[in-house]
Amino acid sequence: MEKIFKCFDFNHQSQHLSWDEYFMAIANISALRSKDPNRKVGCCLVDEDSKRILAIGYNGFPRGCPDSKLPWTKHGKWLDTKYPYVCHAEANAILNSNSSLNNSTAYVTLYPCNECAKLLIQAGIKQVVFQNDTTSDSKTAAQTMFNMSKVKTKQLHLKRIVQLCDNDCDQ
Ligand SMILES: [Zn+2]
Repeated sequence: MEKIFKCFDFNHQSQHLSWDEYFMAIANISALRSKDPNRKVGCCLVDEDSKRILAIGYNGFPRGCPDSKLPWTKHGKWLDTKYPYVCHAEANAILNSNSSLNNSTAYVTLYPCNECAKLLIQAGIKQVVFQNDTTSDSKTAAQTMFNMSKVKTKQLHLKRIVQLCDNDCDQ
């Protein structure tokens, strides 16, 4: 592996990851699978009571649609951009799950868009923990729906993890 995650700051008092840090780290690992050159997003769905991971996902094109045949660009005519084709991390995670997502928590590396907010709510997810925030109309719409549906949201800043580094990590 050319690049690995430096997961611990060993000067920190607590030398293990909290559950929040652990699941968000997995969402970040999943994001690294994305072939989107501009934005890699990961999602990890978790059963809060058992702390079991129910599904993970990242943004990518649908199965059978090769990356070589569809565009990743954000600019140009709509059909020439990634937007009509890409499946967001949250949608992929929801669709990857084999079990009920009722009352589960979604760990996402980026605040969900309005379309994914609808899917998360309809899937029964009750809490969204996000890492990076955005400001957009899409976020405002997502926030409105989360509030109405009583889906809790909280931002998690990863202070100790998700430091992409080369092979100089000795842990
Ligand atoms: Zn989305």
